[in-house]
Amino acid sequence: MTDPATPLPAFEPPAERAFLDWAHEVCERLWLEPGEDRTPDDFLGFLRRTYADNGALPAELLAPLVQERRTAEAGRFLARLAGPVRRETGFDLGDILLSEPPDEFQPTGTTQIGNITVLGVRSPDIACETAEGVQDYLMSRHRTVWPRCPAHRLGYHPVLTGTAPEWECSGGGGHRVPVFADGS
Ligand SMILES: [Zn+2]
Repeated sequence: MTDPATPLPAFEPPAERAFLDWAHEVCERLWLEPGEDRTPDDFLGFLRRTYADNGALPAELLAPLVQERRTAEAGRFLARLAGPVRRETGFDLGDILLSEPPDEFQPTGTTQIGNITVLGVRSPDIACETAEGVQDYLMSRHRTVWPRCPAHRLGYHPVLTGTAPEWECSGGGGHRVPVFADGS
């Protein structure tokens, strides 16, 4: 992933209009929401960089790039969860990331963590869906509730209300803890 500190390319008004038109058109073709053009929308930032580097790529050429990016992001979040899972459950997550190329039913391909399909294209959505996939895998494969709130002894559920996913406990008034210790 590009360093978030790298400034996004900015276009002069006519090119900016052309960029936004292209972004809306390809998103519609690929069944995606272009989102708001504001930070921290990392997906629109990705589109902006792609447009700066390649111009108005046709949707079918953009699709594999979207798929590659989503799968790489899911793999990155999966790798960050593997350590805590091993420490807390003793189970190795192994290779539970699946990726299928685009087809007529999934215009940007399929990315799966275990049985859970990762549909998001924005990093926080991908993080939240990856956490859900890991949790679902541990339950279906190992009959193990992970993670569990140490105070209430209940399983957490992944939620995304801000820019980083959190685990929500159903005890104690629904308190939350970050999925990733550094809050990203
Ligand atoms: Zn709790």
